[in-house]
Amino acid sequence: MKILVSNEEKISLIEEKFRDILDILGLDSSLPTIKDTPARVAKMYVKELFSGLDPENYPSLSFTDFSPPEYSSYVLVKNISIQSYCEHHFVPMVGHSHIAYLPQKKVIGLSKLNRIADYFAKRPQLQERLTAQIAENLCEVLETEDVAVYTIMSHFCVQMRGIKDKDSFTHSYVLLGKFKDDPELRREFIGNGNANANVHEFP
Ligand SMILES: [Zn+2]
Repeated sequence: MKILVSNEEKISLIEEKFRDILDILGLDSSLPTIKDTPARVAKMYVKELFSGLDPENYPSLSFTDFSPPEYSSYVLVKNISIQSYCEHHFVPMVGHSHIAYLPQKKVIGLSKLNRIADYFAKRPQLQERLTAQIAENLCEVLETEDVAVYTIMSHFCVQMRGIKDKDSFTHSYVLLGKFKDDPELRREFIGNGNANANVHEFP
């Protein structure tokens, strides 16, 4: 059941529950170094890390009309930095996204692609779902079916626990319209993503 509460209420409820977690772990939450931690974490969850759960935070977009075949090439923005949170383990997953689309009716400012990707990343996520949500949203707002999104991420739940592998990356892509159907375009886009695999190294 979904309980709809205001952001202020969410922050105060999460603060209370997070204090319980610290207490259960045996930490003294009255110590000066951590006494404000529950409030800080609650605010960070609601206002920053999970701000993408609130539709009001969807970026404002402005469009420029476009009439094909003004240009036949696609728009590609590579290496958009992505910080998200794995919903399985509640730890970060970070990496990059490559986003491409073939304009049909309109184009948007390049930085809006970063903002849209960031909006969907700012919620507990699965990498596959994040990739799909960015792609589907771009189809909708750009009114084109030709969208491709490639994400390459390092999962802290793999780095810090379980197998503890800090060098592996997970690749996920969603190819729609011509990016799916045109073998050459498909190969080119995927090659572009892979070509930059070395920049995804995480220190
Ligand atoms: Zn995980």
